[in-house]
Amino acid sequence: MPAPKLFGYGGRIARIDLSKNQVRVEATPEKLAREWLGGRGFVAKILWDELEPGVDPLSAGNKVVIASGPMAGVFLPGSGKIEMGAKSPHTGLYGEGNMGGHLAGELKFAGYDAIIIEGSSPEPRYIFIDDDKIEIRDATRYWGKGAIETEKALKNDLGEDFKVACIGPAGENLCTYAVVSHDFGRQVGRTGVGTVLGSKKVKALVVRGSRGFELAEPEKALAKGKEMFEACFAKPGFEEWTPYGTAGVTDWINEIGAFPTRNFQTGFFESYKQINGPTLRERILILDKACTACPIPCGKYSKANYKGRTVYVEGPEYETIALMGGNLGLERIEDVAYVNYVADELGIDTISGGSVVAFTIECLEKGVLTPGEVGRELKWNDPDGVAWLLERIARREGIGELLAQGVQKAAAKIGKGAEKYAIHVKGLEVSGYESRYAPAMMLAYMTADIGAHHNRAWAITYDAAVGQDKIEGKAGKVIELQHVRPLFDALGLCRLQWVEIGFELSHYAEMFPLVTGWSYSWDDLLRISEKIWNLTRCFNKRERRDFGRAYDLPPVRWMEEPLPSGAGKGRYMKRENAEKMLDEYYNLRGWDSNGLPTPAKLKELGLDFVLEKLDLGA
Ligand code: SF4
Repeated sequence: MPAPKLFGYGGRIARIDLSKNQVRVEATPEKLAREWLGGRGFVAKILWDELEPGVDPLSAGNKVVIASGPMAGVFLPGSGKIEMGAKSPHTGLYGEGNMGGHLAGELKFAGYDAIIIEGSSPEPRYIFIDDDKIEIRDATRYWGKGAIETEKALKNDLGEDFKVACIGPAGENLCTYAVVSHDFGRQVGRTGVGTVLGSKKVKALVVRGSRGFELAEPEKALAKGKEMFEACFAKPGFEEWTPYGTAGVTDWINEIGAFPTRNFQTGFFESYKQINGPTLRERILILDKACTACPIPCGKYSKANYKGRTVYVEGPEYETIALMGGNLGLERIEDVAYVNYVADELGIDTISGGSVVAFTIECLEKGVLTPGEVGRELKWNDPDGVAWLLERIARREGIGELLAQGVQKAAAKIGKGAEKYAIHVKGLEVSGYESRYAPAMMLAYMTADIGAHHNRAWAITYDAAVGQDKIEGKAGKVIELQHVRPLFDALGLCRLQWVEIGFELSHYAEMFPLVTGWSYSWDDLLRISEKIWNLTRCFNKRERRDFGRAYDLPPVRWMEEPLPSGAGKGRYMKRENAEKMLDEYYNLRGWDSNGLPTPAKLKELGLDFVLEKLDLGA
């Protein structure tokens, strides 16, 4: 019997087994779509179901799940997000990230909701998808090339209309925070999905699709889509935000004392005006660049001159300005763009990469490492030194072998108190918000399932709105954001229209039934998001027997060292206060005092199946 039509979905899942050199295409199960939506929901459920507990992230047993969502590729603002996930080789926990560009829609146009990459190949391969045709092809001639260079080469060889996602040398050499790169500057970063692809010897995925997919109510959806675009253009924030994209927050983050500076030693960078949004626009911008169907192009494609060398790069966006700008003491936007380009070509995450370099410089500054051990002297505001170290990390040469594992593992091996300079939660380097004077943001980092990443809950605006000193009452807002923001990831949507220009969530709620034909309310969708959040928490417990409260503590520096300057001067988070925030958070979530979902909570969310594989106690 043919599978029922799934409106809003490509309708198929492709399974690529590299060990067997085999491709299998399955119908997307309606139950999976109805209960987990897509994107982040598919990644979480498939990894839970299909990975052997305790699997080595770099073994053939790990899987990469690539999934779009039901709203991806639909005519509505910001419908170009795709999720990729695997057990993280960086943290050993649940790993996942998303990116914009044009892959999500293309994959659905080819008729696929997800690609599952399993096994591993002894030789370099790329995965070729052209509607129904899927092939595992030889990638020897692309292996060793930079990520941007690879994308260009594959487009030259196959045609401009193929969408390419690929890895750079960092992924090939198993640096644990390697990204998957797409559209010359969009990346799935943070947890090392690029590394897992590298371990499977997969250099790239190329996709071209022309089949399209059906919507439940196409005429109404088209009218609603038009209304949504018009509403976006009419937002007062549209004119203010669009020229600078995310780089536009640089000044405000400095003002509130939250800009990572010289390895998070403080929260205010005195040269911020030389690396902020207006400076980027004035000095290096060539054009504004957008993902599929986006009315507010945050991509700032730039051309920068560094010591006579011209580089082209998408960005720097805010996170890179923070972690590879202020956090490395770089004082010129051209220098930030240059190191951004180096990281992008090598396929290194700019947040973790910036943090690892900053950690190294501070270790040198404090005498914990010597220039002899590192291979040279490194200073703040030293773009040549940054590029030199990133190269070594990507190739795992010299000190790069140690640093390619991230700050937590590097600090543990270095000893001598280096942990104080390792700014991370759960082994994931902190993204662009120094949070000693932003407790909600700190709690968001502490409790994010993948480690300290802002995309799960950008709570810093709430800190500013209700008081940066206030600790009580922040957990509720963090939880609310942790349900709304990841829901975008499950639907295949960009959240920046909502976050940055105040686009109303009700529009998405109204569009969802027109796309899928399912009469889910926004609250129903949020309930699914909560279910995903609880499942990934359980995934972490399944992978690490000791997982629990201790994993949720902030970086040591934030609990011990008062901020020396900026708006938050003198502030830090006493451990007892961090614990208080966790108590409030766990309580509101219905988790036990060790931060684990109770069996009753799991049953309430329809996650009974988790209890079969995980002993959480009665
Ligand atoms: Fe892409 Fe930026 Fe637009 Fe979001 S706001 S869809 S990330 S261009």
